[in-house]
Amino acid sequence: MTDLSFDCPRCGEPAEGRFYGPCSSCAQELRARYLPEARQVEAPAYEPKMNVTPNAVATKE
Ligand SMILES: [Zn+2]
Repeated sequence: MTDLSFDCPRCGEPAEGRFYGPCSSCAQELRARYLPEARQVEAPAYEPKMNVTPNAVATKE
């Protein structure tokens, strides 16, 4: 897989990617702006249950 080298059309910084478009940081900003739900997905949605003891995990082969 060969990445293209180009200047980001949004911020003008040199960028690399599989396709021409906003650089990774700009893409993140755009994604956060237009898809606010994406931020919520990154945050843990639930508290992991602590019922499993560390010993049970350690002895599992
Ligand atoms: Zn950019």
